[in-house]
This record gives sequence, structure tokens and C-alpha cells, in this order.
Amino acid sequence: MAEMRKGRVEGKVALVTGGAVGMGREHALLLAEEGATLVVNDVDDEGGRRTVDEINAKGGQALYLGFDVSSRAAWDDAVSRAMDAFGRIDVLVNNAGILLFKPVHETSEAELDRILAVNVKGVFFGIQAVLPAMKAAGGGSIINVSSIYGLVGAPGAAAYETSKGAVRLLNKAAATDYAPFNIRVNSVHPGVIRTPMTKDILTTEDATQDILRGAIMRRPAEPKEVSWAVLFLASDESSYMTGSEMVVDGGYSAT
Ligand code: NAD
Repeated sequence: MAEMRKGRVEGKVALVTGGAVGMGREHALLLAEEGATLVVNDVDDEGGRRTVDEINAKGGQALYLGFDVSSRAAWDDAVSRAMDAFGRIDVLVNNAGILLFKPVHETSEAELDRILAVNVKGVFFGIQAVLPAMKAAGGGSIINVSSIYGLVGAPGAAAYETSKGAVRLLNKAAATDYAPFNIRVNSVHPGVIRTPMTKDILTTEDATQDILRGAIMRRPAEPKEVSWAVLFLASDESSYMTGSEMVVDGGYSAT
């Protein structure tokens, strides 16, 4: 029976931002493995092309589009290039994000502006840019990557937590506005995940347990453990989910 199994996102076109490394890369690879055609974005052109080459080498279909998600104009250009290449966009994974470990009193205006530009405006513009294509196609699935730091506080990452909290509510706003168009919009809230973003903080067992703050599974996750949630939200298996928060945190926010 195995050869009769279809991919879980067979025939869909998915755009993943920040797909060069870390979770975005794993999301792109898993969606491609499950039958999607991929548009991979990043500002790291070398890494982004590596992800695309890997998908194409395995027999998938992927295109790299390098741009900064905080630019509205770049989004319009990218979506038009994606539409020229594949004719539709069914799934948007707003994954690109940047981290800053500073409390409020140490954060400069420029640092705050940059975090909000990438983590909030980037998500906002991504939604704006894909809406016409999704409306024309009769629906779609938008997945906005927030964080456990968009649900609960932790010391020393004020601008980042501000941005991820904003993504949580932007997600619900978009879900209510676009449900009439059959566009589902859900957020994903990863806990502590081993990626380049966290490599300088998950250095020792003590440092790791300190960051985990008692998360009941007491370990960080590998990126793919979050990709399975993204795949589910991208697929039609999650057809009755919109405006929801999928928490993938090993119990971090449960206690
Ligand atoms: P990462 O830093 O390992 O990778 C992020 C990727 O996004 C990089 O390839 C980077 O070049 C790209 N990027 C950064 N700014 C960009 C921009 N302006 N335009 C386009 N691409 C850009 O990060 P990660 O750990 O894989 O995190 C992915 C997402 O998950 C982020 O939104 C992050 O905030 C969130 N998150 C991460 C963790 C974690 O523990 N790693 C936990 C919760 C949420």
C-alpha cells in the first residue's frame, strides 16, 4: 500500500521565509518531501540556494527568492516571480525572524525598530502580499511563526517578546478577516529549539536548563519536531483550524 500514499501537501505551492537554515530549512524540506512545490526565501542567498538545491536534487521542485521580508516592495516582486514560476501560492510560512537578548532599558530605538521590522512587519507584509493569489485560488493556509515568548514572558528579551506577542494577535486578526475567503491563518509557538539562532545560548547543559526554565520535557527540540506541526497546518488535515495557536514547546508554557 505504501506506493499508493500521496504526500500530505501534494500539489500545493508553499512559500517559506527564512529557509536557509534552522527551522525554515526543515519546514521547506519536509513540505517538499510531502509533495509541495517550494518557494524558499532568505537574506542568506548561499544558504537559501543550498536548501533549494537539496530539494531539487531529491526530485522535488523549488525556487529561491532572496529578499528582506521587512520590505513591502520586495514582497510584491517576489510574489509576482513566484506566480510567474508556479501560478499559485497555497501556503505561506512566515518563519523568518531575528532575536535580541536585551531588557527594555538596554534596547536602543534602532534595535527595537529592526526587531519589529523583521518579526512583525515582515509577517504583516507577507500576509498582504499573498492575499490576492490565495483569494483568486479560493483559499490557502498562512502559518505565522510566533514563539512561546509570544505567550509568556521570560527575562531579557523585551523587543523580541513584544514582536512575538504582536504576531500572536496579528494572526487572529488575519484569521477573522480572511475566513470568508477560505484562507486559514494559524500561529506556531516553538519552545527552545536547536538552530543557529540558539547555538550561542544552548552551549552547556546548565545554560540549556536555565533557558528551558523547567519546561517539563527538560530538553530542547530539533527543528523537525516543529516542522511536523507546520506540515499539519499547511495540509488539508487542519481544515477546521484557523486563528489558533499551535504550541510546540515540550511543556514550557504548561507550568
Ligand atoms: P535562525 O536564526 O536559525 O534562522 C532564521 C533564518 O531567517 C536565517 O536563515 C536568516 O538569514 C533568515 N532571516 C533573518 N532575517 C531575515 C529577513 N529580514 N528576511 C528574510 N530572511 C531573514 O532561526 P530559527 O531558530 O530557525 O527560527 C525560525 C523562527 O522561529 C523565527 O521566527 C524565530 O523567532 C522563531 N523561534 C525560534 C525559536 C528557537 O528556539 N530557535 C523558538 C521560538 C521561535
